[in-house]
Parts: sequence; structure tokens; C-alpha cells
Amino acid sequence: MTATTKIANPRDIAQNAMALINELNLQPTPQVYHVFYSYLSDEIPELSQLVKVLIRNTQELDEETVYRIYHKYLGTHAVEQHINQGVEGLQAAVERVEEAVNSVMRDTEQFCGEFDTASQRLLADDITLEDARSVSRQLSGTSNKARDCYGTFNGSLEEYHKEVRRVRTELELVRRDALTDTLTGIANRKNFDSSLREAVTSTMETGAPLTLLMIDIDHFKEFNDNFGHRAGDGVLKAVSRVLVRSTKGADTVARYGGEEFAVILPDTTRENAEKLANKLRENVSNQRIINKKTGKDFGKLTVSIGLTSYQLGENILEFVDRADKALYLAKQDGRNTCVLQ
Ligand code: GH3
Ligand code: MG
Ligand code: MG
Repeated sequence: MTATTKIANPRDIAQNAMALINELNLQPTPQVYHVFYSYLSDEIPELSQLVKVLIRNTQELDEETVYRIYHKYLGTHAVEQHINQGVEGLQAAVERVEEAVNSVMRDTEQFCGEFDTASQRLLADDITLEDARSVSRQLSGTSNKARDCYGTFNGSLEEYHKEVRRVRTELELVRRDALTDTLTGIANRKNFDSSLREAVTSTMETGAPLTLLMIDIDHFKEFNDNFGHRAGDGVLKAVSRVLVRSTKGADTVARYGGEEFAVILPDTTRENAEKLANKLRENVSNQRIINKKTGKDFGKLTVSIGLTSYQLGENILEFVDRADKALYLAKQDGRNTCVLQ
């Protein structure tokens, strides 16, 4: 089961993906499963090629690598698929409207012809009453046909508007998805980058203080090794919840990467941000981590925090670098602490 032999049947793909995950001694989390399912169905050639090479060299295919592959190829791939579907739906709707417009134009030409003929017959010198009645009946038939034709056209336009509204809603969901971290439901890295850019621009304009926290879970690798990736995922969700609960509306809580979070605090001084950071740290460390289903107690976890406030004139990279450096110092200080830079 180590080569990319094409398997067409979804049931076979699913069974083989599970077999491969077991063979490689990986945890069958949804993300890991998705990567191997995609590999075996050869959905994304680059992913399949990469996994194939890594499988040949099993010591390089640990869970962290599989997670990286998942985020690189499958997170965004899903978004692209949605956008393509939206665009295809719109194209089909536009084509239907074009067809309807062409049909109305053809019919209109025919009606004009019928009206011209009728008017010539009415203008004839020798027209009889019987002829005039026949022309009138014909004209009434033509006007009924015109009414039906415009009714059908209106129906097509309504369908088109419905399709546009559906695609607009769908794209809004895709946009939200593209800015949300799939595991924790908080802002993802892309969202963080644009939120920070906006916050820095606003601070440059107003001079209001802006503070950034970089938060990293302590000894998380050990936790994963002891209790498995799935329990680790649960911890990432729990920490996100604590961060969201402890912050307010204008703040952005984001997953910066792996087990690292960032909090953007607009309009917040260093002093107030430090109080908040310590509150966050305590709230995390006071939580016992318990599996809700099994009741298993995983003990406690702590986080280290780097804190820094924006200095006028510096660019975003320098700002983030200083927060990162503060985080590094917090780790060196023994962890479960907050360092200001
Ligand atoms: P430190 O206290 O110095 O931060 O040590 P650490 O073990 O937390 O840091 P290290 O960078 O060595 O390990 C980070 C771990 O985070 C390794 C990786 O398996 C885990 N990780 C990254 N992303 C995810 C994820 O999405 N889910 C799970 N469960 N674990 C993840
Ligand atoms: Mg860590
Ligand atoms: Mg880290």
C-alpha cells in the first residue's frame, strides 16, 4: 500500500486510507484522514506526489508534516472549489439570460412583421368589414403571444436574480471561511495579517496605542506525544475559547500557526495589555483539561506570552518581530510568564 495506485471507489479509498494511516502509525484525525483520502483519490497531483515521496521515507511522515500538508493543500483547495462552483453557477445563469434575450428579440421581430402586415391590410381601399374583423382577431392573437413571451422573459430574469443572490450568499460564506481557522473557529493567519495591517494604519492616523500579544502553548509537543494529536486539537480549541472569552469586541484573537496564537489589542496601553495578558495566562493555567466524553483528566497546561506596543514609524514586520522576541524571552524565563518588549 505504498504506491499511488489509482482507486476509484470511495469505499475502497476510505478503507485504504485508514489502512495506510494505521500502517504509518498515525492518529486517524479528520485532517490526517483527509490528506490520505485525497492522496489515494489523486485529487491534487502536488499533494499526491509529496505524500508518495514522504511515504517512501517513512521517518519524515510524522503527524506534524501531515498537518502542514493539510493546511497547505486542503484548507485553501476547498475554498477554491467553492469559488469555482459559484462562478460556474453565475456563468450558467448569464447564458440562460442571453438565450432568453435572443428569443425575445426573435419573437419581437416576428410580432413587428405581423403588425405591419395587419396595418397594410387595414389600409387597403377595398377592405371589407369581414376582413377588418379577421385582422382584429389576428392582432389580438399576436398581442397575447407578445404578453406570454414577455412573461417568460421576466421569469428568466427572476431566476437569474435568484441565482445571483444564491452565489452572493455562498461567496460571503466562502469569504468568512477563508478568514477562519478550521479547527478553532477563530481568525486564521490571513485574517490576522489583514487585521494587523488595518490596526497599524489606524494607529498611524490617530496615534492611539496598539498592543500585540504572541501566545505559545508550553511543552505542547510533549502533550501531543503523551495524549495524542486529537487531544492536542481539543486543547487548541479550549485555549482559543479562553482567549475569546477574556477579550472584547475590537480585539482580534487569531491562530498564528500550529500552537501559537496572537491577540491584537487596539486602543490598549502596555499597562492594560499586561494586565489582560496575565489574566489570559492565569485563565489558561487554572483550567483542568478533561475529555468531556471519557472524563479523562489530562492535567493542566500553561502558555508563554510576548507583549509589545506599536512604535510610530516601525513597519509591521518589525512590530511582529519584537512581539516574537518577547515571546522567546518568556520561554527562556521558564515559561508560564509574560515578557514585555
Ligand atoms: P515550547 O514550550 O518551547 O513552546 O515547546 P513546544 O513543545 O510547545 O513547541 P514545539 O515547537 O517543539 O512543538 C509544537 C507542537 O505543536 C508540535 C506539533 O505537533 C504541535 N502542533 C502544531 N499544530 C498542531 C495542530 O494543529 N494540532 C495538534 N494537535 N498539534 C499541533
Ligand atoms: Mg509551544
Ligand atoms: Mg510554537
